[in-house]
Amino acid sequence: LFVDAPLREGERIALERNQSNYLGNVLRLAAGETILVFNGRDGEWQAAIEGRKRPDGLSIVAQTRPQDRLPDIAYVFAPLKHARLDYMVQKAVEMGASNLQPVLTRHTQVSRVNGERMRANVIEAAEQCGILSLAHVAEPVALDRFLDKREASRLLVFCDEASDVAGPVQALQAAQAAGSGIDVLIGPEGGFAEEERALLMRQPRTLRLSLGPRILRADTAGVAALTLVQAALGD
Ligand code: SAM
Repeated sequence: LFVDAPLREGERIALERNQSNYLGNVLRLAAGETILVFNGRDGEWQAAIEGRKRPDGLSIVAQTRPQDRLPDIAYVFAPLKHARLDYMVQKAVEMGASNLQPVLTRHTQVSRVNGERMRANVIEAAEQCGILSLAHVAEPVALDRFLDKREASRLLVFCDEASDVAGPVQALQAAQAAGSGIDVLIGPEGGFAEEERALLMRQPRTLRLSLGPRILRADTAGVAALTLVQAALGD
């Protein structure tokens, strides 16, 4: 369970109503029973449930796992709407991305992104896959601004359906060996505009990656690209 509070032995944490409902009504846990909690910084801890009629608090007992570390992989994506954005965020976290960066491109149809909802999806996905670190949710930026501000040492994996480069393993492993982070870039539903594609091709340290001969939906392309990156890095 995610709790937004410091985790130390003996610490008492009041439960929010939805957490109390989840523990009492969904998991059917009562006072005296224990659960595992994390806050994204202090590792995983065992906590005892407190409360007379229903769970209303936790008492932190002992650490069960130290804080983990996510690979330096940024998922840089043109945001989609509603459920498709939820899916993109959840799958990126499951695939180990540590930074989620929405970019606004010429054909992006979404101009405002609900950061709260993205963070809620990050927490839910972290809980689901048992990781203790929470991916950072960045504010949306225009694509050209993102490219201007990127660290020069990072490898840009530009997912481009017009590319025929399908074997990125060596470039990815070289980036990992050099300790450079990786930005995995996925375009919007309408694809990148020609001038954006030209701009991307001029970027240093760019791998123009094909995910096969079929045009994938943007949310599928994200999962496919992150899977490929993880298969090469094993991280
Ligand atoms: N119209 C569909 C949709 O609604 O999602 C397809 C969108 S596709 C143009 C969106 C992005 O997915 C592209 O900009 C590219 O980054 C990535 N993509 C899709 N298929 C790909 C492929 N075969 N190889 C590489 N990237 C691909």
